[in-house]
Amino acid sequence: MVQKYSLLNNVYFLGGFATMGGMLFGFDISSMSGVVGTQRYQEFFNHPSSSLQGGIVASMAAGSFCGALLAGPLGDKFSRKRTIMLAASIWIIGSIIQCASVNVAMLIVGRVVNGVAVGLASMIVPVYQAEIAPKNIRGRIVSLQQWAITWGILIQYFIQYGCSFIESDAAFRIPWGLQVVPGAILLIGISFFPFSPRWLADKGRWEEALEVLANLRARGDKNDPAVQAEYKEIEDAVIFDRTLAARSYMELFRKPAVRRVFLGMSLQSWSQLTGMNVAMYYIVFIFQGAGITGQNANLQASAIQYVLNVIMTIPAILFIDRWGRRPVLVIGSTFMALWLFLIGGLMGKFGSPIVSDNQTTTWAIQDNPSASHAVIACSYLFVCSFAISWGPVSWTYPAEIYPMRIRAKAVSLSTASNWAFNFALAYAVPPLLQSIQYRTYFIFASFCVAMTVHVFFMFPETKGRTLEEMDELFNSDIPAWKTAAQPASRLDHDIEELKLNQDQPQQKQLDDSSSGSNSDHHLRPYDSTVPQKMEMVPGEKSELEHVPAEKTEPDHV
Ligand code: BGC
Repeated sequence: MVQKYSLLNNVYFLGGFATMGGMLFGFDISSMSGVVGTQRYQEFFNHPSSSLQGGIVASMAAGSFCGALLAGPLGDKFSRKRTIMLAASIWIIGSIIQCASVNVAMLIVGRVVNGVAVGLASMIVPVYQAEIAPKNIRGRIVSLQQWAITWGILIQYFIQYGCSFIESDAAFRIPWGLQVVPGAILLIGISFFPFSPRWLADKGRWEEALEVLANLRARGDKNDPAVQAEYKEIEDAVIFDRTLAARSYMELFRKPAVRRVFLGMSLQSWSQLTGMNVAMYYIVFIFQGAGITGQNANLQASAIQYVLNVIMTIPAILFIDRWGRRPVLVIGSTFMALWLFLIGGLMGKFGSPIVSDNQTTTWAIQDNPSASHAVIACSYLFVCSFAISWGPVSWTYPAEIYPMRIRAKAVSLSTASNWAFNFALAYAVPPLLQSIQYRTYFIFASFCVAMTVHVFFMFPETKGRTLEEMDELFNSDIPAWKTAAQPASRLDHDIEELKLNQDQPQQKQLDDSSSGSNSDHHLRPYDSTVPQKMEMVPGEKSELEHVPAEKTEPDHV
């Protein structure tokens, strides 16, 4: 039966709202940058030394690392939805502790608690989004998470800037206290949301899984071919999974899972090694290196790059499902390498040693406005290149490549890798800039070259395939760079077959009885012992056709 339209069945609304979790992430990234320079903050917390300040900043990333690891088992046991609710509740508690801080110890505790919340949310939100989204807009829905991160960074930065004019403790208490608002909205809103249909199926709650899927895809019509076909695909995957050994963390590090686990972890590590957070956390040092100083210059620089970050994520949201993941990653890191080599090169050629107020900037361009402007332009172009490519895809890809059986645990490892490198780089960048100056940019540029090569040779294209079709893709022998020619997915074939059956039931029955086929089994059985092949778009040729039978069997994970 077809229901009335409801926002709570709209995948864009559900996926978009859940990204409030990403917004917490963004708040987290810029929650210090705006207050740390204020006199009120410095006086109240007794002028923390630079290493203590480093510890205060990094305590959040440390909490996030732990939160991301916890989110895997919690997401499997208590559901994706309840884990998001837990993250929002912890975030509210952490924000209250931060807002009420009476000393550095309490501030650090508050930041660790907030960090745990961000770690949980940053891992589980993309998984929830990927599991509710239809395959043709999955990239777009998960990319909304990155967009929310960029909005969070921007909003928190401006709140902090506005409050910096207040002449009391409120200068830092208001920004931290206001963080409660998105947490509370997320907590209340998500409680009305459906569970992930794939999680429900995995728990054996078949009726509910079908109902949610029908609501999401066809306004409650359980007989809709798209609903039936996807449900069958999920059912086959779960039933097959039940024939396998009990789940454990160890299987993540054994064949055949280990390859995909490594890909997810390296993708998230590489996303940090692009050097994007040098710009997000330490743009002031890039500017000083370019010879541009002063409070206004800093404000402008940060504001412009945060706005560019938001704007340039939009094309990715719109086109990622058309462009595909591989080209976006490869082109993105190639351009990032170019901008970073240029920044380092210009600074090296036109700069000289300097003595500055802070100990970090020891080399800068002086009296050469053209070179200075060129460096600034390159740093903005660098931010744009990340925003349109690695930013969104580093969240989309890990959330879609794993089978249900290991998805939550494996995504939790990839997200934890992001936080581990985030933490390490936040600490390492200032001393690196101090000791090897502009050469620091060459290191990140080299990482960008390495990740381009890695992606080109090792990462298969995933756009347009259902989550259940990933096993076939990853278990095939096709080299990654030949996976882009997209065969029509099995799901599309099944939907067409069901439509045909519904349109011509009598003719179909006649055909079936004359051919002796099993008429009440509309779909091809997903038999683990029978090799599965993706159906081809007429006229298209796929490498999958040449894969030997045993290679196309579902992943035994
Ligand atoms: C990264 C963050 C980064 C942000 C910038 C995210 O994808 O994980 O570390 O600060 O993008 O937009």
